[in-house]
Amino acid sequence: MSPLDDAARAVAERHGLDPADFVRRVRAAADRRRARGSLPFKTCPACSRELPALAYAEDTSKGDGLKVTCRECDAARTARRRASPSAGA
Ligand SMILES: [Zn+2]
Repeated sequence: MSPLDDAARAVAERHGLDPADFVRRVRAAADRRRARGSLPFKTCPACSRELPALAYAEDTSKGDGLKVTCRECDAARTARRRASPSAGA
């Protein structure tokens, strides 16, 4: 049992998901990340912070398999877009 499995299991239980399935998906995502050779840390251009890969949502269309901006900036942008749809991205 790796620390990653433990963490994934804890998250799954908190969110009422099937732990076995969630652990499998987290492991697959970690494998994809390793396969792509992405760095454990990357800098978010929106907030200029260097954050661990886990702070970024997955985006399989991107070269490193991660969104360009961190989850926090993604969420902030989504919230702004929702508040004023005409303002665009
Ligand atoms: Zn950010």
